[in-house]
Amino acid sequence: MSIPVTAYLLLGSNLGDRTALLRTARAHLAAVAGEIMAASALYETAAWGREDQPAFLNQALAVRTFLTAEELLGQCLATEQAAGRERLERWGSRTLDVDILLYGPALIDQPSLTVPHPRLAERRFALVPLAEIGPEVRHPRLGLSVTELLARCPDPLPVRPWLGN
Ligand code: ATP
Ligand code: CA
Ligand code: CA
Repeated sequence: MSIPVTAYLLLGSNLGDRTALLRTARAHLAAVAGEIMAASALYETAAWGREDQPAFLNQALAVRTFLTAEELLGQCLATEQAAGRERLERWGSRTLDVDILLYGPALIDQPSLTVPHPRLAERRFALVPLAEIGPEVRHPRLGLSVTELLARCPDPLPVRPWLGN
């Protein structure tokens, strides 16, 4: 019997019916990746990297998975495909983005997969939802908790709880 791993994912959408896309993504991930143990609220966040685009809705999930990290990435990409994602330009608008923020305490440096996500500590839009569901979780590379990372995060872009419509 293998042992499950708690992975933290970040969902993002800034094209189309964002709440419906995130809802469908959660159902898809629950079917193909593992049980969703916790889900943050939705946050509306200004686009990072390319700021000339619509705001995102972001949500963090804790998933209990028996998949390897590589298999989990494959299912994240499949979930994006199911949402009709097209890759047009780096950090451009998208119907759905699913990133692996953390995979248990694993450190992974492969051409197609870096875990923890390499830009996590620079992104308030990822840290705020992650802090809601895993404030004490430690970043295995930086040795700091999510709460500590958030306190040190220099990102000035706003992250607001999304109240609907
Ligand atoms: P960013 O990585 O800065 O958030 P992005 O999400 O827009 O940018 P994508 O175009 O969605 O980037 O992903 C490009 C590739 O990044 C994926 O095909 C995947 O192979 C790779 N990748 C590396 N590490 C991760 C990770 N931790 N989570 C998701 N994808 C990753
Ligand atoms: Ca991303
Ligand atoms: Ca991505």
